[in-house]
Amino acid sequence: MEKIRWAPKVRQVKIRQLYENDAAGMVDEELLQEVGYALLDRCQSIWLVTRREVECPRCGTVFSLGEEGEGWKMRSGVQTCPKEGCGWQTSAEEWHNTWAKKDLLGMAARDALAIYLRDFPRAKTAQERMVCIDQLIHAFHISLRDGQLNRSFANNLIEGSHQQVVEFLDGLSALPGGVDKTEWRDHVKTMFKRRKGKA
Ligand SMILES: [Zn+2]
Repeated sequence: MEKIRWAPKVRQVKIRQLYENDAAGMVDEELLQEVGYALLDRCQSIWLVTRREVECPRCGTVFSLGEEGEGWKMRSGVQTCPKEGCGWQTSAEEWHNTWAKKDLLGMAARDALAIYLRDFPRAKTAQERMVCIDQLIHAFHISLRDGQLNRSFANNLIEGSHQQVVEFLDGLSALPGGVDKTEWRDHVKTMFKRRKGKA
């Protein structure tokens, strides 16, 4: 049976190169596309997991492994791809094991996720693509309960621990000529105050 696969996190070095180019006023369209589509793949994986869905590795059909209703429950038993003649099978447990501990849950960042999925493929210029990437990697998980910032969403997108990724983004914001990140820094301060005592 074909295996379920999820897009990996993007390497820091690629993103850093993009921001160094940007700061120097250079455009490397190839790198921009490479990073932008790697993030898009990653976002698509997060979108599927967050919605309890899987993309059939045999035919590409997307189907749900969760039950409808309050909260969510995994469907029990063998699940067969609904596409006629496909026959690929999995189970909710098997599906869950493929993404567990891979930072693929993005419920609290779904606005940022939806915006990137919608806007990046439509961006027409290098500048528009860069803005999409910049907004995505500086987004946060926002508590569904009280609207507070819980985590940096970049931790789901870029390699490294949560702390390392926030430090990495902070380093990017120190590059000359970049977008003003005062507001983002304030958000990070608030987030860490709130996260005190949490890993
Ligand atoms: Zn299928």
